[in-house]
Amino acid sequence: ELEIALKVVIVGNGGVGKSSMIQRYCKGIYTKDYKKTIGVDFLERQIEIDGEDVRIMLWDTAGQEEFDAITKAYYRGAQACVLTFSTTDRCSFEAIKAWKIKVENECGEIPTVLVQNKIDLIDQTVVSFDEAENLARSLGCRLIRTSVKEDVNVASVFRYLATKCHQA
Ligand code: GDP
Ligand code: MG
Repeated sequence: ELEIALKVVIVGNGGVGKSSMIQRYCKGIYTKDYKKTIGVDFLERQIEIDGEDVRIMLWDTAGQEEFDAITKAYYRGAQACVLTFSTTDRCSFEAIKAWKIKVENECGEIPTVLVQNKIDLIDQTVVSFDEAENLARSLGCRLIRTSVKEDVNVASVFRYLATKCHQA
């Protein structure tokens, strides 16, 4: 039987929770002091979409985003994208448009979702509800609010993207 593999890139400023999201989704764990294991490029998880097996491959950026030095290899062959910002980091929100352009330059137009992570810290938010909604609308993306910490909506992000890719 045919197995579909889907390479998904997760971009956004450092500290928004990208590595934690990959660990949560693929390994079911959350640690506050997660440090990337050297040598691990990606993790994967298999799910079923419309009765078909889809292998979701998630690539981590290993902190390179701090230096604006993500290599072309990171983006190569990516079929879907997660644009991530943090509820408590205004800069990460304002950087989303630049991240979208970067991914588009490398990958063209691929199914993309906007993720507002750390929704468990909503009482400390620096981004209003309307601002997040308006950004999603202007980018033409769905907005999904997640808490990797509390495991809220993380699986929905990848199920949504896999479904979009499957339909395309
Ligand atoms: P990255 O730089 O984007 O890969 O971000 P990390 O995954 O390293 O996470 C940065 C920090 O945010 C870590 O201390 C995480 O434990 C924390 N973090 C990640 N997701 C959440 C979340 O949903 N809620 C809260 N409160 N903290 C989170
Ligand atoms: Mg990281």
